[in-house]
Amino acid sequence: MIQPARCGIYSSLCGQEPRVRRGTPVSTDRYADRMRCVVVGGGLAGLASAVWLSEAGQQVTLLERRGSLGGRTISMPLAAVDDVPDNGQHVFASGYQHLMRYLDSVGTREHVAFPGHMTIRLPGGDSRRSAFGGVAGLRAALGDLPDVTGLDRLRTARAQVTLIRQALRQPDWLDDVTADEWFRRIGMPQTARDALWDGIVIGLTGDKPDISSAKVPADLLVTGIRRARETKTPISIGYPTVDLDTLFITGAEKTFADSGVEIRHRAVVSSIDVVDGAVAGVTLADGGHVPADAVICAVPVWNVRGLLDQVPGHDRIYAACDTLTPVPIVSVNLYLDRSIGMSDWGEILHGGEGVLEQVWDRQRMHGRDSSENHLYSTTVSAAYELTTKSNAEIIDEQMAMLRRYYPRAADAQVIHGHVVRMPKSTFAQRPGTAGIRPDQRTAVRGLALAGDWTRTDWTTTMEGACQSASRAVDVIVEYAKSR
Ligand SMILES: Cc1cc2nc3c(=O)[nH]c(=O)nc-3n(C[C@H](O)[C@H](O)[C@H](O)COP(=O)(O)OP(=O)(O)OC[C@H]3O[C@@H](n4cnc5c(N)ncnc54)[C@H](O)[C@@H]3O)c2cc1C
Repeated sequence: MIQPARCGIYSSLCGQEPRVRRGTPVSTDRYADRMRCVVVGGGLAGLASAVWLSEAGQQVTLLERRGSLGGRTISMPLAAVDDVPDNGQHVFASGYQHLMRYLDSVGTREHVAFPGHMTIRLPGGDSRRSAFGGVAGLRAALGDLPDVTGLDRLRTARAQVTLIRQALRQPDWLDDVTADEWFRRIGMPQTARDALWDGIVIGLTGDKPDISSAKVPADLLVTGIRRARETKTPISIGYPTVDLDTLFITGAEKTFADSGVEIRHRAVVSSIDVVDGAVAGVTLADGGHVPADAVICAVPVWNVRGLLDQVPGHDRIYAACDTLTPVPIVSVNLYLDRSIGMSDWGEILHGGEGVLEQVWDRQRMHGRDSSENHLYSTTVSAAYELTTKSNAEIIDEQMAMLRRYYPRAADAQVIHGHVVRMPKSTFAQRPGTAGIRPDQRTAVRGLALAGDWTRTDWTTTMEGACQSASRAVDVIVEYAKSR
């Protein structure tokens, strides 16, 4: 039974109108369309859905199977060093408009910085500051990349022009080939791939160039260019200046408390119930039933199977579950006894040999006090090989890597090492999968899907999660008006 403790609907039954978020227009028939809405899953897609449904005047209950909210974007308290590191670095692209809207809604937008540059670090310590716009961007466009010399520069410049042209006017074979094959077809030199393009593919798609469909990075480049044109700002990469819980959860919990959204932790949904073509509620794994007029199902792709058995056409949705396979990311929080001399907030290590290796300077990013220790976080994306190793092996490998790239790390001692394995971080979108991601609208009245795996302009990202939430909320609000 849902406890009405903080629910706005109950306060309105007691003669008190629920509190309305600032900026939301209030009208006398505002609550005429009010429905009991259930959101399943408390990751970014579910959080944004709950916040925006509530802003739209709906009564919302959020069901999360874990003991806390946040899904794949969480902080992890670490008693050994009295710190709260994240489960992995999350970077923002300047085109993340729906994620920014979410931060506006929960009041934490000020905690994201876009410095306009990152640095490529070479073995031995040399570095090159890179930027998408300005002189650095122009140099890169002309093929002037680290370790790209002689004729390769010309070949790189030519291949990059072809790449952008084919991204904008896509040949019909683009989803038949991997990014690796695409690069070979357009003659992208290996040196330019090592310096930039393989890293871009892994960074954008979450997976290796020989796994990811060429269409995924192509679509993302188009989305990035379109957003840059719309907003008249160059593409750039940003980062949170606070931990992920402060950025995404604390503000949301306050918003939920203010607007009467009910949160139920450890509520595992086992099915979404449909009666006469309309959603009727959800059944929980413990046998309980939560009745609802509308449901947004915002669980990740690997948890969908079984939930939608009563939804017509669920076979096509489940096909996406089989096709979009999980990709691991391994992150390591290294508390060191000294500075390793990074020159930028985030540095991409040149020559990752099929994986994308990045180092993050938490002192610069979070204004962290380094009197006790210096925190460097490393991220290895598409870390298939790393996930099978022990924590000690991973820490040793990451320290050896830092020593290869940062001379000042040579004698650095590890005060504490914290390994975070996320075997299911993002999903791979292989060739032949264009169009497999389902729409937010379903065949069932009052039921919408959300989550980074549903169809959006983005791939497996925080923005994809929030854009899907925005579309799912639109579906539900439209349904509320039509009833
Ligand atoms: C280490 C790491 C680094 C990343 N880096 C970036 C980055 O730099 N930039 C970027 O944009 N993205 C990045 N991502 C991807 C991004 O975090 C995800 O795309 C996004 O957070 C997905 O949000 P979601 O709400 O769709 O899914 P999730 O966050 O997975 O949330 C789904 C929620 O549903 C809950 N749930 C599942 N089943 C049930 C059930 N039956 N009943 C109730 N609840 C259920 C889960 O417990 C979970 O809380 C990264 C991910 C990881 C792990």
